Amino acid sequence: MTEPDQVDCCVVGGGPAGAVVALLLARAGVQVCLLEKHADFLRDFRGDTIHASTLALMTELGLESQFLALPHSTVTTLTALTDDGTYTLADFSRLPGRSGSLMFMPQWHFLDFVTGQAARYPTFELRRNADVVDVERSDGRVRGVVYETPDGTRHTLRSALTIAADGRHSAVRAALGLRSHRFGAPMDVLWFRVSRRESDPSLFARLSTGRMLVLIDRGEYWQLAYLIRKDGYDRVRAQGLDAFRESVGTLAPHLRDRLAEVRSWDDIAMLSVQVDRLRRWFRPGVLLIGDAAHAMSPIGGVGINLAVQDAIAAANRVAGPLVTGDVTQRDLARVQLRRTPPTVLTQLLQRVLQRRVLAVVLTGPGPMKAPGFLRFIDRRPRLQGVVARLVGFGVLPEHVRTPALSPEPSPARAG
Ligand SMILES: Cc1cc2nc3c(=O)[nH]c(=O)nc-3n(C[C@H](O)[C@H](O)[C@H](O)COP(=O)(O)OP(=O)(O)OC[C@H]3O[C@@H](n4cnc5c(N)ncnc54)[C@H](O)[C@@H]3O)c2cc1C
Repeated sequence: MTEPDQVDCCVVGGGPAGAVVALLLARAGVQVCLLEKHADFLRDFRGDTIHASTLALMTELGLESQFLALPHSTVTTLTALTDDGTYTLADFSRLPGRSGSLMFMPQWHFLDFVTGQAARYPTFELRRNADVVDVERSDGRVRGVVYETPDGTRHTLRSALTIAADGRHSAVRAALGLRSHRFGAPMDVLWFRVSRRESDPSLFARLSTGRMLVLIDRGEYWQLAYLIRKDGYDRVRAQGLDAFRESVGTLAPHLRDRLAEVRSWDDIAMLSVQVDRLRRWFRPGVLLIGDAAHAMSPIGGVGINLAVQDAIAAANRVAGPLVTGDVTQRDLARVQLRRTPPTVLTQLLQRVLQRRVLAVVLTGPGPMKAPGFLRFIDRRPRLQGVVARLVGFGVLPEHVRTPALSPEPSPARAG
């Protein structure tokens, strides 16, 4: 165990929520330490969506042009192919300006960029390989966290406020003994990739009886999400890799000649989907945001948006009190109050789609006809704009209200 050290705010978890709240707080003059358990951000199963609201955040921070220089791809419509035709679900070209498309960016670029921007402020520190295993308590209040480094050493980091943004399996939530209300999900996801060719069709989703494939364009390759019934992984595996490749090839025949690139089950990650929500997102000295407070289903690709919006709302509320040293329970309650309506509404929509569409797709007999809501939206271009707005901006978009310190000059400019 090493000697404890102290910051104003300790942020646990360098995902979208943690990285953004750490940047905004450091920029406002709060001493922040971001703890991330991995050595880097190079994991590919976090989702790649950059929503219009996240781009708006970059614009508000004056970072838009640098951000847009990072590798990304865009789509203007989301289309789904069923056994009876192609249907348009969302049309982003109906939204104004830069919002007129949906961006996809490998999340490691996004997180490297955000933490790189935060590192321009002397008030920011990122500790990688810092696996939070417990909270530090005294007098009924959380006073920081205990984390472990790969050599097995335990460290204590004390803070006036701990923000837990450590995702669906939050260690902070577990250490506090908080139990989420679980809503259930009918599916899990098999996540893998195959190479992409310019001539490939720009299809986003393919639905057929018992199966669904989502295709994310990552430039040189397709990131593929193959949806299976909840807890159905063992059955899929027992049927063998050839049967799996055959099933994917039937859904996307243009990829058939590249499916040998999936050489073993090690090339496929099984991601368990869950939807849950805490009743209270805070306790004295600690606030939970993003998936740690409310795990999102991948449906609609909006979980990252909610995580980023939570981060902005949290920073807006606690930055001032953290600088003056008097962050209260009331401040933390206000963050939850503000973010509860968008979270509840989005999870409700996800649960309806899970029950009405995905559960039917994954269990239904016979050829897969387009669900009624797909036909309905396909015939109504205006509604496709509404769906695009919901995906792009979500409900109750947040705006940065935190002040900005001047960043330290970068070495290049300092010279
Ligand atoms: C299969 C699947 C696909 C998805 N696809 C999309 C999509 O395309 N678009 C979209 O918007 N949403 C998608 N989502 C939802 C999205 O991934 C989440 O809603 C979003 O990542 C939540 O962000 P977060 O920052 O709260 O948590 P996370 O992204 O989970 O980040 C948590 C961070 O905390 C770190 N951490 C965890 N434990 C500790 C610890 N003990 N100590 C220190 N650090 C720790 C983790 O390493 C991670 O970096 C998908 C979800 C699933 C399951």
